Formats: sequence, structure tokens, C-alpha cells
Amino acid sequence: MKVTKIGVLTSGGDSPGMNAAIRAVVRTGIYYGLEVFGIMRGYQGMIDNEIFPMDTRSVANIIQRGGTILKTARCKEFFEYEGRKKAYDNLCKHGINGLVIIGGDGSFKGAVEFNKEFGMPCVGIAGTIDKDINGTDFTIGFDTAVNTAVEAIDKIRDTMEAHDRIFIIEVMGRDAGYIALHSGIATGAEYVLIPERKTNMNEVIDSLLEKERRKKLVNLIVVAEGDDFGGANKVQEMIKQKMPNAETRVCILGHIQRGGSPTCIDRLIASRMGYHAVECLINGKYNVMVGILNNRMNYIPLQEAVKNKGKVSDEWLKIIKILAS
Ligand code: ADP
Repeated sequence: MKVTKIGVLTSGGDSPGMNAAIRAVVRTGIYYGLEVFGIMRGYQGMIDNEIFPMDTRSVANIIQRGGTILKTARCKEFFEYEGRKKAYDNLCKHGINGLVIIGGDGSFKGAVEFNKEFGMPCVGIAGTIDKDINGTDFTIGFDTAVNTAVEAIDKIRDTMEAHDRIFIIEVMGRDAGYIALHSGIATGAEYVLIPERKTNMNEVIDSLLEKERRKKLVNLIVVAEGDDFGGANKVQEMIKQKMPNAETRVCILGHIQRGGSPTCIDRLIASRMGYHAVECLINGKYNVMVGILNNRMNYIPLQEAVKNKGKVSDEWLKIIKILAS
């Protein structure tokens, strides 16, 4: 079956750069003579028939904007067959015979189910700040989120240095510690706590005590929200128990990491992935995720993209230890 009419949607957690990907999908599709439809609020819009034709002008002036003009949602109904059937019937009403799904691992799981049941050709683009996707060096939004975290931590470091404090900063990442890892290294953190590695808190506290003895009182701890201790507040509690006189402060960066104008890297990868996603649909390469590995396009089945995500290089962890002495 030849793909002639495609739908594009953003689903799950939003990430800066999704707009750049939408723009690339719409303009590439039109360039190749396809009809392109925007679908509002992810899978919810498919179920509610919030589907509308897009043209090159409808994506003008959005490449630099955070968020997503198509909005996004988490959609309970799509977990059920009835919901997915409704969605399929609505796509058929518009004659849509191909989908580009910009989202995270949950959205890809939904796409796999949808394709299995209705044979709808789907192509995924990884739009997630967490970078918790297999088969790609980049996910749209990660670079922006990390840079936002770095900027915030640099500012906190100024006040932390002025007061000789231990600062515990929580960054996003429920299952993946990449934002913590990258922002921690880039800001010279003494410790980085991530979900992929069990942290020995006694070891951390012993090392803080040793630093206290040699009058190194300023220490930066970056914690991923999904760390095994349950985030920054918990870590502070544990430190306070053993170091009651230490000046500790917590800062939870929160949603500022999701917002803002995408960095140049996020705009570039979004444009490149969007373009290649449409080429996949045209060339009959279905049910894959468009990734970039070693600066080359990499296509892996959607179900593979959500597996084996927890690989954090030992090299980075060693570098943190050595550089934070
Ligand atoms: P993300 O794509 O950012 O990981 P979610 O995990 O919330 O975000 O997934 C987005 C949406 O994808 C869900 O709200 C649901 O509609 C759909 N989805 C996720 N997992 C499944 C699944 N196993 N079966 C069907 N739909 C799913």
C-alpha cells in the first residue's frame, strides 16, 4: 500500500524541539506530494477526531518555540482496544494511511499495539527530555533540558560557594539519569546519583566527612528524581542525620527543564529526524523509530526502541569521581 495521506502527532511528555519536528514532517510531506494532517493532543485527538489538514504556512515561525503547537496528552482510552478502534475509524474517515508519532517510550508502545491490530504504518521520532530510548544518541529535547539545568546549577553554585554549603539539586529523570549525569559533569558536581546505579549513601557521607576534615565545605550533589533514595529531600535527610552541623540546601529544578526555546542541536536533530521519518513512510520502512547513531541515521523497530535503555557508561562515572576530588 502506498502512503498518500499522513498524520502527525505529539504524545506523552512534551519536550523542546517537538515543534521543529512537526515543521519538518509537514514540509517534507508536502514536498513529496503527500497530504499532511495534524492530530491534536496525541492519541486523544485521534479518538476525538481532532484532525485537520496542515500546509507549509501552518508551521511557519515555530522552529524556535518550546512546547508543541499540536498539544500533547496522556490518553487512558488508547490503552483499550475500543479506544484504538475509535482512533482507527477516525483516521480512515480522513483517508490517513501513515502516522508519524513524536513521543517517548509509552507513545511507541501504543504505536506498536495500534499497528498490530489495524496495520497502520507508523514511524516514531523520539521526543523526550529523558533520553531513555534505545538505538539513538539523541532524543529531541534532551540537549535543551540539560542546558537549562546547567544554567540553573551554575547560578546556584555562586550562592553555594558564598556560604560554604552542600547543595542537593534534583533534576528530572524518573527512569533515566542522563540529565543528572550530563548536567552534573558539566557543572563540576562532586556526586551524581542516578536510577541506573545503586548508590552507597554511607560511602557518599564518609567522603563528605573526609572533605569536611580538609575544609572542603562546598559540595554539589546532583540527584535524578528517580534515584533509588527517592529524590533530593530524602538525600538531604540522610546527610543531616550523620552531619547535623553541615549547611545543606535542596533545590528541585522541576518543570523549567521541559520548557524554553530549543537549542540549536535539538532543532537540527528534530529537522533531520522529521525529514527522514517521512522518507521512511514513502519508502515502505514502517514501524521503526528514526534515530541517529554515530551521526548516521539508524532505524530500529519501535518495540526495540523501548528496550535496554539503562546503559550508562562506566567511563562517565569514573570521570566524575576523579574530577571531583
Ligand atoms: P511518553 O510517550 O512520553 O513515554 P506515556 O508513557 O504517558 O508518555 O505514553 C503516552 C501515551 O501512549 C499514553 O497516555 C497512552 O495513550 C499511550 N500508551 C502508552 N503505553 C501504551 C500501551 N502499552 N498500549 C497502548 N497505548 C499506550
